[in-house]
Amino acid sequence: MPEEANPFESLQEQIDDAAAHLDVGDDVIERLKNPERVLELNLSVEMDDGEVELFEAFRSQFNGDRGPYKGGIRYHPNVSRDEVKALSGWMVYKCAVVGIPYGGGKGGIVIDPKQYSESELERITRSFAEELRPLIGEDRDIPAPDVNTGQREMNWIKDTYETLEHKTEPGVVTGKALSSGGSEGRVEATGRSTMLAAREAFDYRDKEIEGATVAVQGYGNAGSIAAYLLEDLGANVVAVSDSSGGIYSEDGFDAREVREFKQETGSVVGYDGAEEELTNEELLTLDVDLLVPAALENAIDGDLAEEVQADVISEAANGPLTPEADEVLTDRDVTVVPDILANAGGVTVSYFEWVQNRQRFYWTEERVNEELEEVITDAFDNLVEAYETHDLPNFRTAAYVVAVQRVADAYAESGNWP
Ligand code: GLU
Repeated sequence: MPEEANPFESLQEQIDDAAAHLDVGDDVIERLKNPERVLELNLSVEMDDGEVELFEAFRSQFNGDRGPYKGGIRYHPNVSRDEVKALSGWMVYKCAVVGIPYGGGKGGIVIDPKQYSESELERITRSFAEELRPLIGEDRDIPAPDVNTGQREMNWIKDTYETLEHKTEPGVVTGKALSSGGSEGRVEATGRSTMLAAREAFDYRDKEIEGATVAVQGYGNAGSIAAYLLEDLGANVVAVSDSSGGIYSEDGFDAREVREFKQETGSVVGYDGAEEELTNEELLTLDVDLLVPAALENAIDGDLAEEVQADVISEAANGPLTPEADEVLTDRDVTVVPDILANAGGVTVSYFEWVQNRQRFYWTEERVNEELEEVITDAFDNLVEAYETHDLPNFRTAAYVVAVQRVADAYAESGNWP
């Protein structure tokens, strides 16, 4: 097996690819390729049996030129310093490409949450929140959900922060439950932007989304919601998978029903509407019109990219394609809507949540969805304009050209100090 791509190196390569088309100094690009600071922790937390266990944890604050650091917290055994650095950098360019006033950050704990009880997870989360307290705040750094975290964890972080600070500050985290100051539409937001990005890309290629066949790799929050929203547009979801494997049906699934099945049983595998089972690799190379990678980084490398048969890829996951895969898919004329746009719905509605928290004035779901659609379609149009006017190789480079320029401008305007 070839060694897996290092996501931090992938991020740096993506920025270099864009820099080649920009008139921004090398010294500034170097700065934009590296995090401002990374906190590394060992949390020591008492388990239910009275033993104390250590958990490695990180928070990377990559860049704050356009606003407070913003980004999720991930719980996964493969979390590493370099992964968190990459994910925090992707947040910077994601916020820039959709034009919301944030920098980028990311955090993570090296943990398999399935192995711990709810009360253990609460103590681990609160311990992390206590360590993060001096670094976070609604004008400083604003965590959110990511892989294996959700409303529950955000509510614990908010409560820990507010209790220790002796004040009310719901905007310190986003992705909270509605009753704790969350926003309508936040849970669906990542899947919704993945759907919108696919719809726009099909339109750009003069292809019909109605009747298009879709394969979704990863059936968590982003993947399953993208699947049913695509289905609402008339697309046909024929294959879905998760870490246990995948399922296929030529006639297509009822994506909501499969989502319920997975929520009840823990996996899509075993769903009785499936004609056959398939591996994740088989799913990624199926003969479909649209592919939605919605799991983790490096799902498609250069070799697998040679086998991909889809015409369009909408990236719900962060970093699912290696730079080699990008190169191969560009040569093979596959349209890839990059993660920093396709999954930007999550952070965009996080931004709406934060605005609502600060104003103590809450929006309807309809308003959230309308404003989200406007942000994503405007960003897509800006990307296409950059792609065409600079004659760029692909949409990812176009997205980075737009985003890197915006961050470089903000940095130039504020100057280098101290
Ligand atoms: N974790 C999500 C992402 O990767 C959401 C981040 C946020 O809402 O701040 O974009």
